Amino acid sequence: MAWSTYIAILQLTLSVSNYAHVDPQILLSAEKEVTRIYGNTGVSIVWIDPPVPENTNTDSPCYRTADFDVNIRPKAGALGPKSNTFGSAPEVGSDSHVAYVFYDRIESLFAQQTAAAMERRVSRWAKPDQILASVMAHEVGHLLGLAHSPSGIMRADWRANELLVASYGRLLFTPQDAEVIRTEVRRRSAMSLLCPPSIERLSLQTWERR
Ligand SMILES: [Zn+2]
Repeated sequence: MAWSTYIAILQLTLSVSNYAHVDPQILLSAEKEVTRIYGNTGVSIVWIDPPVPENTNTDSPCYRTADFDVNIRPKAGALGPKSNTFGSAPEVGSDSHVAYVFYDRIESLFAQQTAAAMERRVSRWAKPDQILASVMAHEVGHLLGLAHSPSGIMRADWRANELLVASYGRLLFTPQDAEVIRTEVRRRSAMSLLCPPSIERLSLQTWERR
């Protein structure tokens, strides 16, 4: 490849642990939607499935097989003290890498929308895969250093309007959020260049789904 045609690819690797036993088709559809949402920021996503066990000897980023681990839990438990939170990224910081999604709350939100539709209070609603994708993208956004925004997918609370926008696939990161994301992905990939060659990372393609 000639240098003139070289394009630096901003890439994030996400490992998903489906502890909630979300229907595989819903999860696959949600992952595609997260890929599209991040694609709008200029970042491509590589998914790892099944999750590869972490190297337990160290928590160094050099020895992780994915940049971030997304754990889909059946219930929030102690991780989601507020009843209206759909996920959590409790270890936010320069080395943060674990996010949680609470699937019972996603199902509950979907049920609320369908009840509203039955009463003809709404005519369109976000499907479970769209809600799941929005929550995953939001929590990964926190891992990338984003705080809450007044608008877009990083809003702290989603109203009916956010769900309506999500149903059209248009609940996205703001241009300002996208800039923060690109900067942080660049920073993390620059850090990984300092790592020694890793067998886990070299064998990653074995686990790539697409
Ligand atoms: Zn948040």
